[in-house]
Amino acid sequence: MSESDFDELSVWQEILDDVMNDRVDGLICPFCDKKAIEVDMEGPAIVVKCTECGRWVEGQNAF
Ligand SMILES: [Zn+2]
Repeated sequence: MSESDFDELSVWQEILDDVMNDRVDGLICPFCDKKAIEVDMEGPAIVVKCTECGRWVEGQNAF
């Protein structure tokens, strides 16, 4: 994992925290600043992606 990957993950972490706290409405992409975040929860995995710029991250649902 490169340093920039790590930076990207830390940027996503705030969004993932919101998602895990059930705040999934009105999320703003930290990369393109558009309200285009789409959340997909499948079991223990959470996929958060931006439909605008195509960036995405997969997190683990703590619950
Ligand atoms: Zn985006």
